[in-house]
Amino acid sequence: MERYNKITDKNQREILLLKSFACSYGKCAFCNYILDNSYDENEINQINIDLLNKITGEFGCLEIINSASVFELPLRTLEYIRKTADEKNIKIIYFEVYFSYIKRLNEIINFFPNQEIRFKVGIETFDNNYRTKILKKNFLLNDYTQLSNFYSCCLLICTEGQTKEQISNDIETALKYFKEITINVFINNNTEITRNEELVKWFLTEKYPLLLNKKNIEILIDNKDLGVYVQ
Ligand code: SF4
Repeated sequence: MERYNKITDKNQREILLLKSFACSYGKCAFCNYILDNSYDENEINQINIDLLNKITGEFGCLEIINSASVFELPLRTLEYIRKTADEKNIKIIYFEVYFSYIKRLNEIINFFPNQEIRFKVGIETFDNNYRTKILKKNFLLNDYTQLSNFYSCCLLICTEGQTKEQISNDIETALKYFKEITINVFINNNTEITRNEELVKWFLTEKYPLLLNKKNIEILIDNKDLGVYVQ
């Protein structure tokens, strides 16, 4: 298990995988990381405070992930993030958030008056049918102007049933509407979603070399590539 890392190549930052209450949605067919969620508030806060004490602030940028949304972190943890960020002179904080929280984002922005808050949302694909029916991520995207509320998005690629055209279109669309994108190449994880090796081979040979050096694209070939994971 690793919960703290420093990303030192593109978009330098410290990253923490915090513990949190259960994801409010919790039904995405490909998601196994909600197994890290807990209902024990004291345990959550203790683990998170110990982790936050590792933050040095050396990059002025911190990413918090929590196998759910920022709204599922306890208040005590949020207060400690704010205190740490202020003390360590952190200017930018990334939080992950489920799309349905779109109307509540200001609550977090107002809670951190001294930092720029960047929300990362899991879009996974712009194909509404595939997202809702296969991935079981239950929101429809029809009005792309709403996406400006989020700074960055995650795409999930190379799953069974996707096509090269879908993946290419997803990357192109994500780059149009978000300042940064993260591309996750799916790895089998004992959920009902499976990886398509032919798509992986195509992506790694034809797309990856073209995207690799773009500053606003992070590509996770392995889901441990950010150096934080629970196993
Ligand atoms: S919203 Fe995120 S954390 Fe929740 S089930 Fe879906 S992928 Fe997992």
